[in-house]
Amino acid sequence: MPIFDFKCRQCGHRFEELVRGDQIPACPKCAAVNAEREFPLSVAVSTPKSKARTEGIARRAAKAVHRDQQVAETETLRHHLKEHSEGG
Ligand SMILES: [Zn+2]
Repeated sequence: MPIFDFKCRQCGHRFEELVRGDQIPACPKCAAVNAEREFPLSVAVSTPKSKARTEGIARRAAKAVHRDQQVAETETLRHHLKEHSEGG
């Protein structure tokens, strides 16, 4: 049986419980039965949807860096040409 992390909505207490199915355990601190299950970050990240999204962000970031480099190169070239045209 898997151990799940829970966070009590009543008092905010976090605890771990062995649960079966969608069973929600009572909070050991205040005994409220309205805890929400917290999923480990690794599980959330490994879903195909979020993985695609992460890759999309990474691709966009890489593209942005590439574009910045191109802009920088263009700017350098422009300064270079300007210096030469003004000098002559
Ligand atoms: Zn509680």
